[in-house]
Amino acid sequence: MPASPALHTDAPLVDTLNRPLHDLRLSVTDRCNFRCVYCMPKEVFGKDFAFMPRDEMLSFEEMTRLARISVAHGVEKIRLTGGEPLLRKGLEELIAMLAELRTPAGRPVDIALTTNGSALAMKAQALKDAGLKRVTVSLDSLDDTTFRAMNDVNFPVARILAGLDAAHAVGLGPIKINMVVKRGQNDHDIVNMARYFKGTPYILRFIEFMDVGTSNGWDMAAVLPSSEVLGRIHAELPLEEVAPNYTGETSRRWRYVDGEGEIGLISSVTQSFCHTCSRARVSTDGKLFTCLFASEGHDLRALLRDGSSDEQLSAAMGAIWRQRTDRASQLRSAQTGAVRSTGTKIEMSYIGG
Ligand code: SAM
Ligand code: SF4
Ligand code: SF4
Repeated sequence: MPASPALHTDAPLVDTLNRPLHDLRLSVTDRCNFRCVYCMPKEVFGKDFAFMPRDEMLSFEEMTRLARISVAHGVEKIRLTGGEPLLRKGLEELIAMLAELRTPAGRPVDIALTTNGSALAMKAQALKDAGLKRVTVSLDSLDDTTFRAMNDVNFPVARILAGLDAAHAVGLGPIKINMVVKRGQNDHDIVNMARYFKGTPYILRFIEFMDVGTSNGWDMAAVLPSSEVLGRIHAELPLEEVAPNYTGETSRRWRYVDGEGEIGLISSVTQSFCHTCSRARVSTDGKLFTCLFASEGHDLRALLRDGSSDEQLSAAMGAIWRQRTDRASQLRSAQTGAVRSTGTKIEMSYIGG
């Protein structure tokens, strides 16, 4: 399905800070079977929590329509996320629809998925068959007690490792592993994780605990800066920095000097990367967010459902991106990083991580 010529414009779409629209993160559900302490703490996302009603969720057709228009605007990479995306029934159908999209230059779109890995062993083959290229799997510790405490639903490490094996076996790659580091909770396992995944096909990335949303009890004291993560690993397994794969890559790359692979450091709190941020997020109910820390989204579902044409939707999305000024992390760093921004903030599980 080529990007419609009617939608494509030669003038590149850039925001007020000259950042192109390159990445689209589509949240396919706000539900999750985990209750990670840094994302969906049980006390807030309990039995009575009101998740999104079905009719408010975008259909796969609606998501694909937005994706096609985004691709005409320059998006080359689409990441499916949530909530836990593998909980969305029939996700393979959406992947198959997105896999048909082509950029204005005729290239397929890079389709990726971020998952907690709990259903990966069962679904890897179907995802691959549908056209998924690669996955990122979240795994915060190899220490079973620590991992069970962090996902807070007593889910064992072994089943995530089985999911990783299955993803690798069907050829989903490169496979990345995200470890959110919380000081005092799983930081004792940093070097162990590095050692375990060194020399394997998996690329381990360490993410600073972020102050996204308002329910995870964020505190700067619980953030272990990436520089410290690096120092701890480097002391035992020497590393050297590698150039980024592309402008706007969130992760700083370091490789083992003995040639046995690389790690990534995502320093969202201590070293902002807003100046190259090219990501747009669409929540499951069709709100477009131009920043992870935005307090409000732009309602695209209304346009999808009121008979607006592709051209009208495209113009609306273009206008939103052109006006974009977001650089929340950079502004927070300028306040020494210790200050937590105030005001309404959207939860990660809703906006899509
Ligand atoms: N459920 C999927 C998963 O966990 O991979 C996809 C959605 S999750 C919101 C996406 C990513 O955001 C995960 O790697 C997760 O660890 C990360 N994340 C969630 N809350 C975070 C926080 N407060 N700080 C840093 N990363 C966070
Ligand atoms: Fe669920 Fe992912 Fe959030 Fe954990 S990080 S609660 S797996 S959405
Ligand atoms: Fe992008 Fe907003 Fe994160 Fe900055 S704070 S990198 S603008 S999502």
